[in-house]
Amino acid sequence: MVFPELSGNKWRKLRYNLEEAVSSGHRQIISFGGAFSNHIHALAHAGSKIGLKTIGVIRGEELADQPLNPTLQQAASLGMQLVFVSRKEYDLKSDPGWIAALQDRWGKSYVLPEGGNNDLAVRGCAEILGPESARYSHIAVAVGTGGTLSGLLQGSHTTDQKILGFWALKGMNSAEEVRIFGSSTQGVLFDQYHWGGYAKFQPELIEWINRFYQVTQVPLDPIYTGKVLFGIEDLARKGWFSPKDRILVIHTGGLQGNAGFNQRCVQQKLPTLTYEI
Ligand SMILES: *Cc1c(COP(=O)(O)O)cnc(C)c1O
Repeated sequence: MVFPELSGNKWRKLRYNLEEAVSSGHRQIISFGGAFSNHIHALAHAGSKIGLKTIGVIRGEELADQPLNPTLQQAASLGMQLVFVSRKEYDLKSDPGWIAALQDRWGKSYVLPEGGNNDLAVRGCAEILGPESARYSHIAVAVGTGGTLSGLLQGSHTTDQKILGFWALKGMNSAEEVRIFGSSTQGVLFDQYHWGGYAKFQPELIEWINRFYQVTQVPLDPIYTGKVLFGIEDLARKGWFSPKDRILVIHTGGLQGNAGFNQRCVQQKLPTLTYEI
């Protein structure tokens, strides 16, 4: 199964979970995300393709009374049922009691954690790297939950290469580093390129991403991939790499979020991304 509209790491993370959901006899999948979540968007697409009902539990009860943003609009039009909950409730997203209550309310479901992150997701991400990736001394990727980075570590074809993770979120800690890296010593995490965290609007980063697009025609998103490429350039400028290094950057997708991002930039009178894909 390959769906062109489902690019990026979220499809890799879903793949084995969808198989598992179907083979364990589930008719619907429930998962969790923020209002602009790439994971929720990908899940809605995948569910509609393979005929599984999807329920998206979305953080923010106030959203129920507002026009849907582009991400949620698309998810809903693909048949996803959206359930808006308060932030306090949303914080219970890993609590077995709350999940059981959700299933009582919405029906028996295959439960996918926030960001789609679990062992099956990591297994899917291990398939990102083909044998040709062994030519690279460094492989770089954005880090949210870290599932993708864990997969790259598992899937790396040579222990000679480093896998560089760029935190998109603020406040990484060493316990999380251990969780993501396991026993591997190939990983390196950078926490100085998150630009204040997830949905922070930084004109300088937006302008950098626009310039990058002008020069390369490669569209990035400001939450994940833009931070990675910016970070690579910055590290290169500072002499972190040696001239013989070969760097492979994984474009993890995320472009669906750009339309909603631009809407918010306009509201806040900030520069926008010059393209939307
Ligand atoms: C979710 C996401 C990531 C982070 O993946 P994790 O496995 O959660 O670390 C990176 N890039 C994009 C575009 C994403 O949507």
